[in-house]
Order: sequence, then C-alpha cells, then structure tokens
Amino acid sequence: MEVKNDIEVENRTVRKKTVFRNLPLVPRVVFGNGSFDQLGDILMPKRAHSDAPFVFLVDDVFETQDLVKRIPLIFNDQIIFISANEEPKTEQVDALVHQIKSKFSELPSGIVGIGGGTLLDLSKAVALMLTNKGGAARYQGWDLVNNSAIYHVGVPTISGTGAEVSRTTVLLGPEKKLGINSDYTTFDQVVLDPDLTQGISKEQWFYTGMDCYIHCVESLNGTYLNAFSQSYGEKALALCEEVFLGDLSSEDSRNKLMMASWHGGMSIAYSQVGVAHALSYGLGYSLGIKHGLGNCLVFQHLSEFYPDGVKLFNKMRSRHNIHLPKNVCANMSDSDFDTMISVAMGMHPLWENALGPNWRDTITPERLRKIYEKI
Ligand code: NAD
Ligand code: ZN
Repeated sequence: MEVKNDIEVENRTVRKKTVFRNLPLVPRVVFGNGSFDQLGDILMPKRAHSDAPFVFLVDDVFETQDLVKRIPLIFNDQIIFISANEEPKTEQVDALVHQIKSKFSELPSGIVGIGGGTLLDLSKAVALMLTNKGGAARYQGWDLVNNSAIYHVGVPTISGTGAEVSRTTVLLGPEKKLGINSDYTTFDQVVLDPDLTQGISKEQWFYTGMDCYIHCVESLNGTYLNAFSQSYGEKALALCEEVFLGDLSSEDSRNKLMMASWHGGMSIAYSQVGVAHALSYGLGYSLGIKHGLGNCLVFQHLSEFYPDGVKLFNKMRSRHNIHLPKNVCANMSDSDFDTMISVAMGMHPLWENALGPNWRDTITPERLRKIYEKI
C-alpha cells in the first residue's frame, strides 16, 4: 500500500518520498494431497545437529489420529499437543517458550505448527519469542520485534484464516487482542496438504471458510484496495463461491478452499480487513468468541456496509443449513458493552480501510451498540 504524505513547507507542497510496503512472503511452499509426507525431507537440511530438536506444536484434536504417526520425529524431537478451544494467549506463548528452554540446552532447530489458525499463530509466536527477550505481550503491535525468529513451518489443517501466509500472529494479551506484526513473523516454509482438512465439523468448516470470504469482501470493498490486493481478493472470492455454492467433489472443494485461504490472506496482506473484523475483535476480547464464528455473527448484520456481500453470505449459510447462535450479547452489562465497543473502535486502520479517513463522522459507540445488540 502506498503511504501518501505530501507536506506543506513554507506554503509550498513538497512531495515526500512515497513509502511502499515491502511485504515478506513465505519463501517456500509445497502443495498437494499427501505432501505432508515430505516434511521429513524438508526439515532434514534445517537440523542444526542432533541435540537441536524440532518441536512440533500440534492441535490436540489429532492426539489419537494416524497423522501423529506420520510426524517425522528423530533424535530428541518433541511433540507438544495443544487445545485450539480458546484463542491463543500471550501468557500461553510465554509458558511454551519457558517449557522449551527448560527442557533443551540448545535452541531448537525449528518449530512446526500443525493445526488451524490457533496453532499456526502459536507456532509463529513461539518461534519469535525464543529469540526475543521478555514476554510476548511486549511485541503486540507493529514492527516491535528486534531479532529473527527461529526457523518455523506452518501446516494448516483447516482452511480460511490465511494465517499460513500472513506476517502476523494474533494473540489475546492482558490488555489487548492484537497481532505481533513483523517481517520475522511470516513462516519460512508452509506445507499445504488439503487431505489434512478432512474430518472437520460442518459448522467449523463454514466458520473458518467464511473468515476467508469476509477477508475478500472487506478487502475488495475497502478504500485501501489496489491492483495487488484486488487480483488475489477476486480469485479468492471466486474460489469461495465455487466451494460454498458450487457442486464440487469433496476433494476439489478441499483443494480450492485451501487456495482460497492463501489468496485471501495475500489480498489483505496488501490492504486491510474492515467492519466485521473490527467488531469481531470486540466479541473475541469480551466474550472469548472465536474468530471465524465471531466474524459470521457480526457479518450477518452488516448489510448497511456490505449489501452484496451479506446477501451472498446468507445464501451460503442457508445452502449449508448453518444456524448461528442467538442472543449472544443478551446478558452483557453497559460496562461490558462499553469495553467491547472501545476494543472495536480502537481498530483504526480497519475502520479507515472500510470507510475512509473520516470514519469517525459516522461510526459512533451508539451505532456499534445497536449492531452488537442484534447478535
Ligand atoms: P482453529 O485453529 O481455532 O480451530 C478450530 C477448531 O477446528 C478447533 O476445535 C480445532 O481443533 C479444529 N480442527 C482444526 N483442524 C481440524 C481437522 N483437520 N479436523 C478436525 N478438527 C480440526 O481454527 P481457525 O479458524 O483456523 O483459526 C482461528 C484462529 O486464527 C484465531 O485465533 C484467529 O485469531 C486466528 N487468525 C489468525 C490470522 C493471521 O493472519 N495470523 C488470520 C485470521 C485468524
Ligand atoms: Zn479473519
């Protein structure tokens, strides 16, 4: 994205140097059904020596599944199973870093995250925090990280968040829910094996898939849109329509949703998300509602911002017979609402992308409360 910064100097307008974002990309990616079995070969040249293990952070939904037997463990490699029932937290990252540092005398050769956005984000954060001093909460924000992360690999097992391509790891901290956005956050390697996304419940498949769909709608309808973001956003949106409204075989559908997630992530990487994400962050912070579901709960009520997007969303929802929870905000006090609204309103770049620099003229706490009350 271009940063516009003409400045006034002694009544003359001087064009300051334009700064374009220099986006880090995942340097290596393997795609294909069964490609997970190449992981051992991929990791081998990255092994520092036999005392520097690979640590695999794995969604505990796989604890009793065959996938675990396919993890290429050698030497003193370790698997740590982690529940994805809650959003990842800064204190959880700190505890994992402590656990790894106390167990091994050397830094690991790398971290491999296997799971959805929760496990991918935790893995990125742990890889960063093994080489940066202090707690993870200190680095929530933009470009606060000083040192490169250790080598880290992402293996998504559910498609939609785009966490596999992004330069952020979204964490719930003591004071805020915010990503560690940095050039060091992005994975060094991603393994895209659509076969791993089998066995997800229909509801979870829909919620996480809709995260991708909403990324596209917010990016394509935002004021930050540019040809780079548009090209990825349009492709991802078309893939979402095929997956959620077409008649694909289940294998085709898994393959396409995995690529939609990738393209959706690429689209927002060079633009920004919008109203649904700002409000969903509030729900996540105040009620612990997970990202995908939170986005859906909010998005159904956003016709005033995204009329076409909401119409298509409702079509997809009824096609798959998805019933969203109701009365989610029913028991909240005024002060709970105020906190949630202030978290949402604090997401300035998201509002600016959605509505332009004068967004404060139309976005008021009262207006947001009315939306939340419908949820
Ligand atoms: P998730 O990782 O939270 O997992 C959702 C559920 O699906 C969990 O119960 C998990 O155990 C289960 N699951 C995952 N894979 C499965 C499989 N193959 N079979 C059966 N069950 C499976 O889901 P998500 O929606 O991918 O991730 C949400 C997280 O991603 C949030 O914490 C959000 O903040 C984060 N996020 C990050 C970014 C980023 O750019 N870093 C972007 C969007 C969202
Ligand atoms: Zn999202």
